[in-house]
Amino acid sequence: MSDTTLILRAAAFAARQHRDQRRKDAEASPYINHPLELARVLAEVGGVTDTATICGALLHDTIEDTATSKAELAEHFGTEIAALVAEVTDDKGLPKAERKRLQVEHAASISDKAKRIKLADKICNLTDVASSPPADWSLDRRREYFDWAKQVIDRLRGVDPVLEAAFDQAYAGRP
Ligand code: NDP
Ligand code: ZN
Repeated sequence: MSDTTLILRAAAFAARQHRDQRRKDAEASPYINHPLELARVLAEVGGVTDTATICGALLHDTIEDTATSKAELAEHFGTEIAALVAEVTDDKGLPKAERKRLQVEHAASISDKAKRIKLADKICNLTDVASSPPADWSLDRRREYFDWAKQVIDRLRGVDPVLEAAFDQAYAGRP
């Protein structure tokens, strides 16, 4: 299968899995816009051409937010991509505050490909919190989100100067 085919399959699979979900912004944007934006940022801003990284970005929220298993991803996309998605998946069995703490704790020890996906995820979410935040978030909550994202990214720096600079630029929009 060509790289292009695999990437388009990942986009189509994510679209199907997230089909009934919406982002938390006031307009309730289609969820799939978010994984597509991660992949675009990686390719266009980061110059990433690695197919596993692009597919991992497209699929990054499928295990966490849809009824998708790591085994299912392995079956469709191979073990490398499945492992990459698992690396950026929170343990939903844990309370939210603990999951946030663990993201900071684990950031330094994930693979370089997973670090780039994390960078793109935080870049996109900071951009969203700045320009189209969840409707009910107070100023304090938006600021807390920026600060937590920076704590995560500060632990994984040294992997990709271009994406790290793009993160810093997004962080500069802190409300
Ligand atoms: P989160 O803080 O986890 O919500 C943010 C997540 O929602 C993002 O990481 C993103 O995740 C997703 N998302 C969807 N739409 C948007 C959007 N438009 N903009 C940005 N992100 C979006 O929310 P939780 O409800 O899980 O909150 C849990 C934590 O929030 C608690 O641990 C607590 O610390 C804190 N909190 C603070 C409050 C306050 O007033 N200060 C009040 C309540 C909680 P993804 O990329 O995975 O989709
Ligand atoms: Zn995400």
